[in-house]
Amino acid sequence: MNTAAHEARDTELRRALIGACRELQRQGLTHGTSGNVSVRRDADSFYVSPTGMAYETLEPEDIPLLTLAGRWYGRRRPSSEWRFHRDILAERAEVGAIVHAHPRHATALACSGRGIPAFHYMVAVAGGIDIRCAPYHTFGTQALSAAALAALTDRRACLLAHHGIIALGEDLRAALALAGEVENLAAQYATALAIGGVQLLDEVEMRRVVEKFRSYGRQDASDADLTHGGQSLPGMR
Ligand code: 13P
Ligand code: ZN
Repeated sequence: MNTAAHEARDTELRRALIGACRELQRQGLTHGTSGNVSVRRDADSFYVSPTGMAYETLEPEDIPLLTLAGRWYGRRRPSSEWRFHRDILAERAEVGAIVHAHPRHATALACSGRGIPAFHYMVAVAGGIDIRCAPYHTFGTQALSAAALAALTDRRACLLAHHGIIALGEDLRAALALAGEVENLAAQYATALAIGGVQLLDEVEMRRVVEKFRSYGRQDASDADLTHGGQSLPGMR
C-alpha cells in the first residue's frame, strides 16, 4: 500500500470506530461519555475512542492511535481504559475490536457481583457455558485490566462488577452485536430472577450449544436431514 492508501484505510478505521460509538448510544447500550471502543490497526497498534468526549461530536482526527507498547499519537488523549484494550489486543490474536459499555441490565447484574449462568442456551454466544463477572477494581487501572482478562478466558464477553461489560469481536460489527446480546441476556436473566425459580442448563448441553454455534447461521452449514431442492420454488420456472 502507498501512503495515500494507508491514510485512506486509517481514516476508514477511525470513521468505523466513531460509527460503533454512536451505535452504542443509539441502541441505548451506554449513556453519556461512558464506555469506549477500540479496533486493531495492525500487529502493533490500535485505535481507541478518546477519553471523556461526547460521541456525537467525534471526528476522525479525534481518534488516537496507541501502540501495544503504550505510546499514543493524535490530538486527543486515549480512553482511560486503554490498558484493558491494549492487554486484550496483545493477548488475544483473534480479537479485532473491543466494546466496553455500561448497559442498564448487565450493569445492574454486575452490581450484585453476578455473572450470567446457563439460564438460557444463548449464553453460549459468548463462547462458553457462562458469562463471568470480573471482581471490582477502580476504572482505568492495571488491576481492572488483569481481572477482565482473567474473566475473558475462553470467552468473548464478561461483566465487570460495579461497572459494566466488555465484548470482543473479530471486527467492530461483531463486538457491537455481542454487547447487545449480553445486555439482552442480562435483562432476561434479571427478569427470570425476579419471577424466581430459575433453572440452569447443564454443562453437557451448554457444551453442545457452544459447538453448534460454530456453524450457526452459516449458509454452508450441513444438516443430514435436509435436502436442497434448488433455488426455484417447486412448480415454478
Ligand atoms: P473514557 O471516557 O475514558 O473512555 O471512560 C469511560 C469509561 O467507561 C471508563 O470505564
Ligand atoms: Zn466504564
